[in-house]
Amino acid sequence: QPVAVDRIVAEVIDRTRTPASAKEIEVLFRGERELTVYGSEGQLVTAVTNLVENAIAYSPERTRVTVKTRAAGGGVEISVVDQGIGIEPRDLDRIFERFYRADRARSRATGGTGLGLAIVKHIATNHAGRVDVSSTVGVGSTFTLRLPGRPPEASLPLPQSVEINPNSVV
Ligand code: ATP
Ligand code: MG
Repeated sequence: QPVAVDRIVAEVIDRTRTPASAKEIEVLFRGERELTVYGSEGQLVTAVTNLVENAIAYSPERTRVTVKTRAAGGGVEISVVDQGIGIEPRDLDRIFERFYRADRARSRATGGTGLGLAIVKHIATNHAGRVDVSSTVGVGSTFTLRLPGRPPEASLPLPQSVEINPNSVV
């Protein structure tokens, strides 16, 4: 089903208000309006929330996190840009694995479990999309969720349960 990207971002900003204000981090929305993606609003909110929570967790106080949305390649890109600690090149391939956390010392201070990005990747795949990262240590990271801008093909598994008309079932 169609989901307004604006709604997803508004919900994510609402959900991340507490950790953001605790670090005096401003979460901004810069994007094209009236974009639509297809799938589960709840799952997509979870995915983008995980990205914004990471952006906040792995950034110094009083920095800025920007959620950018745009139409690209017939689909929609939702990017979360931070001014945080960044990720070493050798960790970039592994951070989407379950329980993988870069630099134990840093990670211990923020106390996560290492599941957030595995869930984001799972949700992206569920929506026939993908998630990519680019990062520079000491400068910041950008995580981009790329989603198709049209309904999934009938042959693809739907991300949510399908409503079945009981009258059509024998
Ligand atoms: P949680 O399960 O609570 O989300 P987590 O944040 O450690 O725990 P992931 O969200 O999967 O787990 O992230 C995996 C690792 O990737 C993090 O431990 C951190 O080292 C690195 N990471 C993720 N996002 C960022 C970011 N925006 N900036 C820098 N490092 C990041
Ligand atoms: Mg996380």
